[in-house]
Amino acid sequence: MKRKEVNSSRMPVYRDAGFELYDAATTSDAFKMESEHQRVPDKYIYSRYRNPTVVSAEEEIMKLEGCDWALLTQSGMSAIDTALSIFQKGKETNPWLFFTEIYGGTISFIESVLKARRGLDIQYFTPEEGKYNLNEFEKLISVLKPELVYIESISNPMLIVADVIEITRISKKYGSKVILDNTFATPWLFKPLNYGVDIVIHSATKYFSGHGNLTAGVICGNDKNIMQSAIEYRKFVGHMLSPDDAYRLQTQIYSFELRFSRQCENAAKLAAHFENTSVISKVWFPGLKSHNSHDIAEKLFSGKGYGAMITFDFEGKSKEEKKSRRDKFIQLVSERIKLIPTLGDPHTILMPVEAIWGVKYPEPGMIRLSVGFEDYNELFGIINMAIAVL
Ligand code: PLP
Repeated sequence: MKRKEVNSSRMPVYRDAGFELYDAATTSDAFKMESEHQRVPDKYIYSRYRNPTVVSAEEEIMKLEGCDWALLTQSGMSAIDTALSIFQKGKETNPWLFFTEIYGGTISFIESVLKARRGLDIQYFTPEEGKYNLNEFEKLISVLKPELVYIESISNPMLIVADVIEITRISKKYGSKVILDNTFATPWLFKPLNYGVDIVIHSATKYFSGHGNLTAGVICGNDKNIMQSAIEYRKFVGHMLSPDDAYRLQTQIYSFELRFSRQCENAAKLAAHFENTSVISKVWFPGLKSHNSHDIAEKLFSGKGYGAMITFDFEGKSKEEKKSRRDKFIQLVSERIKLIPTLGDPHTILMPVEAIWGVKYPEPGMIRLSVGFEDYNELFGIINMAIAVL
């Protein structure tokens, strides 16, 4: 049966594992073109290489990020692996420099895979008192001359905002590529490629998907050589996103700006309220003047918002009192605010910081909220009801 043209306004889900190539000459041309790793192939060959539904979702992300290419992968972690691995050159690889305040899963990947298995020379740069000292950074990078510098725009769970503009400027001075995980800030707050960052990564599982119902990652950029290496790497290791997930992601991305702007708004109101709540001893939110990187957030995000994550600590005379407040709060809000270890969901969700980060952040009263796009008054009501009886 011949496929009929259907007057659909959307790219359909092409689930084909392999695509029809008709004859030997077309096959030969298709493989020749594929080896050039162009962003959109002339002919599709095999879905692990390229898939039209995935390309269509990538083009939606390119519009958001304002960039020349975007490549989707099965998860944020496979996006991170792709972005980093294309710079690995066997024994010739120069050191890679990572800021320490990055996603715990990325740290585990660095330690277990990049260091322990691949034997790479990994170096770290640590903040001082919740702030990156860029003079110290320049001292380190001028000696180390790393192949690449890896940062997150807003860190987790202390929400330190990195001065990406300055860090990129310094890194370029010493010939390093800059790779930035912009999952928490999203292009709605900040478009790092405009400031010379080489690769932007997102866990699209979070705000791009925005509904807590799919796992995906993406890398974005403007440099054609980087794109070609990444297309090749994704194909060889099989990091390609499935067409079904690409279709759902594309549909969910249409509402990204509406959702995320509302999430930022809800978070800002809630953080301001927490600062005036007596049972809360400290609030970390880059929109508050009390936050260590408020000035950097102002500079980078131009007052549009400050992200939708809040971390706070319960007041208590002892660790036991703090812990008991935390546990009581989690229980009191549990009907509407669930303990789910992810972020960027439609509804506000929470994580007890000490239970996840333990040694690094041992404070038993700390909670990290991923603020949703639900009605603010409803959210405020639930939280206030719990706080009133703590
Ligand atoms: N980057 C950040 C900042 C994250 O928070 C996460 C996951 O939480 C990842 C990357 C990994 O993404 P994924 O879980 O989609 O693999």
